[in-house]
Amino acid sequence: MNIPEIFGSMLFNDSVMKERLSTEVYKDFHSKISKGEKLTIELANQIADAMKNWALEKGVTHFTHWFQPMTGVTAEKHDSFISPTEGGGVIMKFSGKSLVQGEPDASSFPSGGLRATFEARGYTAWDPTSYAFIKDGTLCIPTAFCSYGGHSLDKKTPLLRSMEAVNRAALRILKLFPKNDIKDTVIFVGAEQEYFLIDKKIAEKRSDIVNCGRTIFGARPPKGQELEDHYFGAIKPRVQAFMRELDTELWKLGVLAKTEHNEAAPGQHELAPIYATTNIATDQNQITMELMKSIAARNGLMCLLHEKPFAGVNGSGKHNNWSIGTENGINLLEPGETPEQNARFLLFLVAVIKAVDENQDLLRLCVASAGNDHRLGANEAPPAIVSMFLGDELTAILEAIENDTPFNKRKHELLEIGVTALPNLPKDSTDRNRTSPFAFTGNKFEFRMPGSALSVAEPNIVLNTIVAEALSQFADELEGSADFTSSLNSLIKKTLKMHKHIIFNGNNYSDEWVKEAKERGLLNLRSTIDAVPYFSSKKNVSMFEKHKVLTKDEILSRTEILYENYCHTLHIEALTMINMTKKEIIPSVITYEEELLRVANSKKLFNPDLCRDTEEKLINKISILLNTLNNSLEILENSVLEVKSIIDNQKMAKYYRETIFVNMAALRNAADVLESITAKKYWSYPTYEDLLYSVK
Ligand code: ADP
Ligand code: MG
Repeated sequence: MNIPEIFGSMLFNDSVMKERLSTEVYKDFHSKISKGEKLTIELANQIADAMKNWALEKGVTHFTHWFQPMTGVTAEKHDSFISPTEGGGVIMKFSGKSLVQGEPDASSFPSGGLRATFEARGYTAWDPTSYAFIKDGTLCIPTAFCSYGGHSLDKKTPLLRSMEAVNRAALRILKLFPKNDIKDTVIFVGAEQEYFLIDKKIAEKRSDIVNCGRTIFGARPPKGQELEDHYFGAIKPRVQAFMRELDTELWKLGVLAKTEHNEAAPGQHELAPIYATTNIATDQNQITMELMKSIAARNGLMCLLHEKPFAGVNGSGKHNNWSIGTENGINLLEPGETPEQNARFLLFLVAVIKAVDENQDLLRLCVASAGNDHRLGANEAPPAIVSMFLGDELTAILEAIENDTPFNKRKHELLEIGVTALPNLPKDSTDRNRTSPFAFTGNKFEFRMPGSALSVAEPNIVLNTIVAEALSQFADELEGSADFTSSLNSLIKKTLKMHKHIIFNGNNYSDEWVKEAKERGLLNLRSTIDAVPYFSSKKNVSMFEKHKVLTKDEILSRTEILYENYCHTLHIEALTMINMTKKEIIPSVITYEEELLRVANSKKLFNPDLCRDTEEKLINKISILLNTLNNSLEILENSVLEVKSIIDNQKMAKYYRETIFVNMAALRNAADVLESITAKKYWSYPTYEDLLYSVK
């Protein structure tokens, strides 16, 4: 396989455009994109034509606008290129208009009340900053999705807006520094993706996995991840074959899939691509998730992207590595060589510290989902409390700056911003704390709270906006100052004083931290239901509106969608649980009970003095447990009926969390104990042991 040759071969990227468009059209396209101007229809026609010819040569017959509605998965509506000719034949046609705009029926996508029922139309608009690509023989055009009223109904639109917001604010700051020729900033994102692979045939025997993407029952296996023998362990041949195929398909689409390894739990793996600009990284992560599922299926495997497919072993996250750089290759989160560069680094660093501290609510909220609630705070993932890890070295430097004390390695010397150079930060010291939800890792921040199924659009919309806000507040303060260096000095000190309580370098999984965080006054929003109400707070509405990322209406609609998604997820889980209990668990247990009774009775007939303790004890135990199970089942069924009478989405979501979720846990408890004492041959579906070690 010639990898450089196949890399990007299914991508209508810059070099393909350069080759296939006239120099004039190519230049016009680039100049319009960089200025954010609208493309003329003539220009769109030329690009559409080149795109079609390129696609036809690769055997493509259909195209689709590919978008990311609020369902969290991508959507497509395929159209063929065929167009009838007069003589009854067809030609292959693709107009600029079809490239630039589409009109899918919006009525079946969540809109949270933004789209009135009579107005089913929505439209998709080409995002020319992300390349078109060919997937499964279809030309996919990345697009944004809006209602006819102009409200965004997707994740891409606010993401693009947030990228502009942070760029505007960062440029204001950069202009204040002497000797700068920076024209644009870029936000880079590297999304590490965790996932589980299990044997498809085995997985399909469980309706919880099929319906909910996770197990909702399951006794713990004797061997979980205690031995830690899976992490970075040898990759099994079936998994290896899957990874190779995945890499190849991703490379064809220009995704720089780089690192693949086993993760901590049995059956768990990770893929990390090389980072890209936010918009492209987000599209690529969506494509990666899609391909993981389809390639797994082709290999007789099932890929689980759920945040907590199995109780008792690690869940899956998606680390969002985020940094801000310039168009000419400077990483603004990297300490530099000169005092000026370091002053700039410190300013961007404290901007992120301020942003995170002031927006703990939004950071928790942007990763909130029913699935991720199982993970955050579950002793193997970051807690639901947002804090930042900077490492001891950098923390000590910041303390010295804040308090005007000598940095211990420099004995008597004070660190003056913009005057003295910073001591070197040893790179490896910044990456040791794996328990922090938001860690500085040398030249980027790693946000570890996002769940594996989440679109990285959400965390990056928030990160970009909150950093834009912090930077623009800094710019307000610094722009008018007579002595830039001394204003900068005091701004950095002041910011550190105010926000240092968000910095925590210790063990985030410990109970002591929960207590300490409370004393520090940090938020601890344990569930989605606790976090969602913060979305529409005064602070958040005014910040999103100020930076033109989301309007108040869009925030309110997204709030509704968050509640709806939460309720739907729990509803499906509860119904699946009820079904499995009635149709599988109870019949299995009764059959086993029957068998025990049959043996006990036969023994009695054969010889009344024969010991029947084991059978009788088991029958007793099972009868009691079965009764508990049935009571829990009835309670859950009643609560599922009860919830129907609630109309308000927020109240309904609260009921799901506080009542149905709790009832589900009780039912699971009883079922799991029964599973552990029922003979395996009577149990109708595969156990944890069968699942977790299903891929040889
Ligand atoms: P770890 O597992 O230790 O977190 P990995 O190497 O698996 O590290 O993942 C790090 C991720 O961060 C990769 O996707 C990488 O491309 C990305 N990354 C590296 N540098 C930057 C940067 N400056 N900005 C954004 N992402 C980055
Ligand atoms: Mg990581």
